Amino acid sequence: MDTVVYKEPAPIVDRENPFESMMERFDDAAEMLELERGVYEYLKTPVKQVTVSIPIQMDNGEIEVFEGYRVIHNDAIGPSKGGIRYAPDITLNEIKALAAWMTWKCSIANIPFGGAKGGVKCDPSKLTPVELEKITRRFTANMLDVFGPDKDIPAPDMNTNEQIMAWIMDTYSMHVRRTENAVVTGKPLIVGGSLGRKEATGRGVMVSTFAAMAKLRLNTKNATCAVQGFGNVGSVSAKLLSEHGLKVVALSDVNGGFINKKGIDVNQAIEWMQHSGTLAGSGLGDKITNEELLELEVDVLVPAAKEDQITGRNAHAVKAKVIVEGANGPTAAKADPILDSKGIMVVPDILANSGGVTVSYFEWVQDRQGYFWTLDRVNRRLERMMHDAFNNVFNTAEKYKVSMRLGAYILAIDKVAKTLKVRGIYA
Ligand code: GLU
Repeated sequence: MDTVVYKEPAPIVDRENPFESMMERFDDAAEMLELERGVYEYLKTPVKQVTVSIPIQMDNGEIEVFEGYRVIHNDAIGPSKGGIRYAPDITLNEIKALAAWMTWKCSIANIPFGGAKGGVKCDPSKLTPVELEKITRRFTANMLDVFGPDKDIPAPDMNTNEQIMAWIMDTYSMHVRRTENAVVTGKPLIVGGSLGRKEATGRGVMVSTFAAMAKLRLNTKNATCAVQGFGNVGSVSAKLLSEHGLKVVALSDVNGGFINKKGIDVNQAIEWMQHSGTLAGSGLGDKITNEELLELEVDVLVPAAKEDQITGRNAHAVKAKVIVEGANGPTAAKADPILDSKGIMVVPDILANSGGVTVSYFEWVQDRQGYFWTLDRVNRRLERMMHDAFNNVFNTAEKYKVSMRLGAYILAIDKVAKTLKVRGIYA
């Protein structure tokens, strides 16, 4: 039998260790909060880590075995929440970091959830729709004891979409013998999804960008912006930023990017992406690499691709005035002091991209009530909550005289730690 050997895709810049990056910031915040040792230990350790094997009969009749993960970092505040990603190079270490980031993100967003993340090690571009469905259903079946509307609620993440969420919802529902649409968010509208969920992360990025520019008193008229990544988060962020008056001068996807100083027509880029599946060949401007995009002289840089793009090696070359992190973990911890010393304001991932999980919360609330909101209501509530979260992080950073990143960690960890203290330790 042929063995499938997955080749690690070449990283765009380099590969740091996401869990260590998360822990470095956690340690700094814990020190400022003077967190007691026991609480520190409790918060750094995930409450549950599940690994399952997913045997699938492929279309050619052969059996392949995939590996699936779900890490629940913390559930002190409420049921754990976080996406599921499908990628050939995911590791448990990465999922652990992403799960912890969800705990901090939900805490900052002020929604009643803990944090989790999951994934399946597979390359969706090499799978047929039937194989993708089988993987999703078997993964869900193996996670029946983990998932639940009151326990742990998955959502989309890298390379997963509404259809995959619908299969999760259906598989879970079949097993519990009732339609349980609150078990997963990011579903298609027709099975209990929420209006505005698909655009929510990008909308939150847009709100945080303008909030940051207002704090820095930057003129938004003719301000320029570069967006790395053109998946759901990058494309919606670019579209909304340009609709609200910023000039998007550079875009990229995994195959590279384009620069056009006169401004890129984002709608045209989206159309090209929809029919070709990549920005390559679109001729949107002059070609640039992903590394070059990060170093452009722009007002706003939105890294919306993946982890560890801005690192200790290239941070000194970043020239943007504001970085708004659409992706999770796009900046490695070693880059933080370099960006700080250059006076660049970084709106950290756990704040900047929290619009997605905030509208996931709205979706869960709507499913449980069986009462669905208008798009206007979703967007107004999202914008209000993003502004509140932004101001809370900004004020915490001012109070402790630290960066927005550290302010965000301090705010998030303090709330979870206080919740733990009030609940006490069950024995
Ligand atoms: N995957 C998204 C994130 O990283 C959304 C998670 C969710 O909606 O639960 O924030």
